[in-house]
Amino acid sequence: MTDTDTDQGYTSLFDLPPDIVEARDWAHGFAEKYVRPVAAEYDEREEMPWTVIEEAAKAGLYTPDFALQIFADPTGLLQPVVAEEIFWGDGGMGQALLGTFLPVAALFGAASQDQISTWLPEFFGTPGDLAVAALCASEPNAGSDAAAIRTRARFDEARNEWVINGTKTWATNGGIARIHVVNAVTDPALGARSHALFLIPPGTTGLSQGQKFHKHGLRASHTAEVVLEDVRIPADLVLGGKQALDHRLAWAREGSRVRVPAAMATFEMTRPAIGAMAIGVARAAYEYALEYAGVREQFGRPIIDNQAIAFTLADTAVEIDAARLLVWRAAHMIPRGIPFARAEGSMAKLKASEVAVRATERAIQILGGNGYTRDYPVERWARDAKIFTIYEGTSEIQRLAIGRAISGRRIQ
Ligand SMILES: Cc1cc2nc3c(=O)[nH]c(=O)nc-3n(C[C@H](O)[C@H](O)[C@H](O)COP(=O)(O)OP(=O)(O)OC[C@H]3O[C@@H](n4cnc5c(N)ncnc54)[C@H](O)[C@@H]3O)c2cc1C
Repeated sequence: MTDTDTDQGYTSLFDLPPDIVEARDWAHGFAEKYVRPVAAEYDEREEMPWTVIEEAAKAGLYTPDFALQIFADPTGLLQPVVAEEIFWGDGGMGQALLGTFLPVAALFGAASQDQISTWLPEFFGTPGDLAVAALCASEPNAGSDAAAIRTRARFDEARNEWVINGTKTWATNGGIARIHVVNAVTDPALGARSHALFLIPPGTTGLSQGQKFHKHGLRASHTAEVVLEDVRIPADLVLGGKQALDHRLAWAREGSRVRVPAAMATFEMTRPAIGAMAIGVARAAYEYALEYAGVREQFGRPIIDNQAIAFTLADTAVEIDAARLLVWRAAHMIPRGIPFARAEGSMAKLKASEVAVRATERAIQILGGNGYTRDYPVERWARDAKIFTIYEGTSEIQRLAIGRAISGRRIQ
């Protein structure tokens, strides 16, 4: 792969800052060297690629410092650019490597500066003593309807502790994480307006892993239920602090509007990054199919010389670039504090996820019978790509968000 291949013209158009270009090339090099060669093996075994995460930690890609850099980046582009390259390496491996960044986003979105300084290092661990972290929001009865969660955090005044009970599901890194960030209801009478995020430290009694899921794709990543039974944590482990939560609850009881609950705000902010991951998988499949179509001959000529194949690849190339522009627009709005008034985060995630599904399906078609086997990576990428239309808000939920934003109406 040459620089020109990875560049695809987008740096010249936007004149990305040199440090972002450098980070992109660094992440690409890492994906090429450490992710691609072992991706099929981890997918087959459905195992977390700890040795690759270890390499990422040594390389500085999986560290608290890099997380700080991402969330302080004034362009907002560092995260999507790096995520695209890592997921270009492989979707499942990408999820294993970057899954921790979801709870990290929740921490940056909801925690106090002191909480960030104290706890961020625990999310990653260190080379030789690695950790992953989990964000536990979804529940068996509350997926798309995130407001319907039942996990309850009750405050025990006598012991100055929170007591948390509930069952979470689909948590990336759930049960194997050193830190679990858990969304819970603090006052059932206030419902979603009382949601808060709680940080469960390592070794806390009462937290256990339930079922580990065997998935269609992203099989190198760990997804599981998390059960919380009388989990007791100190008062100050509610993100943002207890005093701020008490103020918010008091305003809600008076009937004042309160800001979007923490977990939902996290998902809004992470949508561009999810879009970037989808683009990475789409690009991997597109590049593979493009190369294959130039080499595979039928009827005495490369199959790409048929318009049917060339047009399919042309459409894919256009869709990938269009999706990337939406992702970059949304990502660039975040550090500048521009609200997603037209649900720009949802637009980016919706478009990129559907492009990834199409691009990978088309790649299988272009590879013919080979595309349908596990000897070629495109079937794995197609399995991986499907997740992007499901997690962090399904395509239907993104359309709801966009429909509401553009119409100003309460569309159901
Ligand atoms: C691999 C994987 C990793 C995940 N990681 C995490 C994680 O780390 N943390 C976490 O908290 N969660 C995680 N999730 C959960 C994920 O966010 C949910 O699966 C997702 O939000 C959908 O919820 P659900 O599965 O309950 O589907 P449901 O909400 O039951 O939806 C089923 C179908 O109904 C549609 N639907 C629902 N409501 C409407 C509506 N109003 N209008 C139109 N259509 C509608 C949906 O679009 C979907 O097609 C993960 C899921 C997977 C599969």
